[in-house]
Amino acid sequence: MKNYSREEKLKGKKIGFVPTMGALHQGHLSLIRKAREECDRVVVSIFVNPTQFGPGEDFDRYPRDLESDVRLCEREGVDVVFAPSVEEMYPENFSTWVEVKGNLTETLEGAHRPGHFRGVTTVLTKLFNIVIPDCSYFGEKDYQQALVVKKLVDDLNIPVEIVLAPTIREIDGLACSSRNRYLSKEERRAAKVLYQSLLRAKTEIQDGEDNPSCIISSMEDLILEEPLAKIDYIAIVDPVSLKPVKRIRGEVLVAVAVKIGKTRLIDNMRIKSVF
Ligand code: AMP
Repeated sequence: MKNYSREEKLKGKKIGFVPTMGALHQGHLSLIRKAREECDRVVVSIFVNPTQFGPGEDFDRYPRDLESDVRLCEREGVDVVFAPSVEEMYPENFSTWVEVKGNLTETLEGAHRPGHFRGVTTVLTKLFNIVIPDCSYFGEKDYQQALVVKKLVDDLNIPVEIVLAPTIREIDGLACSSRNRYLSKEERRAAKVLYQSLLRAKTEIQDGEDNPSCIISSMEDLILEEPLAKIDYIAIVDPVSLKPVKRIRGEVLVAVAVKIGKTRLIDNMRIKSVF
C-alpha cells in the first residue's frame, strides 16, 4: 500500500482516501464518488477496527462482506481496496496509542463508549501513515468523529485534508448505516423515529423555540411513543465545541443515540435558528 502511494505521489497524483469498516452502503458510496471527483487515485480501506469497540459491543457480529464490498468499489472506479488483517494492524507487541483529549472526545459518543475515539484516532493515524492520502473523506453521519479527526490532524500536523460530506438517508429518512443490517422488519420500521425526532427539533427551532430542554423533552416524547426504542442520549450542542447550549442561537447540532431492540443507532442534524 505504501509503495503504491509513494509511486503515485511521485507521479504527481492526488490521492483520496475513504476509511471504512466495510458492509458498504450508499453513505460510503457517496464519499467514494466525491473522492473520485476530486482526486486522481481513490483508496478505500475496509477494516473492522477492534480497538474502537468496547467490551460487550458488536465487534464479533459486525457485518463483514469483503467480496461484495470489493465488487461495489470496482464499480465505483476505486483504484485500491486496502483490507489489512487485525494481526497486521495490531501485532502482539503493539503498544502505542493516539488520543485526542478534552471535551470533543469526552462528550456524546465519548461519554457512552469509553475508549471508542482512542481506537478511532489510533487506527486513523496508522492508516494515514500507510495510505499517505492528500484528502480523506468522512460523513456527517458521524459528525463528532469528523471533528475529532480534524483535531487529530491539526494537533499532530498530519498532512491530510479532512473533507466532510452530507449524511445519506433511506427514503423514510433513516441514515444509511452498516448496523441497519441488524434490524428486523419491525425494528427497521421503528428506526425511522430517530430522523423524525430530528425533524421535530428542526421545526420547533425554526418556529422560534430557543430553550434546548423544551426541544429535548418534545423529542423524548416522540421517541418514547415507539415501544422498540430506548434513548441513550439526546443533546443540543455547539457544532464547534460540542458543549451543550443554554439558549439556541445561530447554528446548533442536535445529536441522538437510540437503541432499537439490541441495535444502537446514532444520527444528528445541524439546524440554524431564527435568532
Ligand atoms: P463506517 O464504515 O461506519 O466506519 O463509516 C465510514 C465512513 O462513512 C465514515 O466517515 C462515516 O461517517 C461515513 N458514513 C457512514 N454512514 C454514512 C451516511 N449515511 N452518510 C454519509 N456518510 C456516512
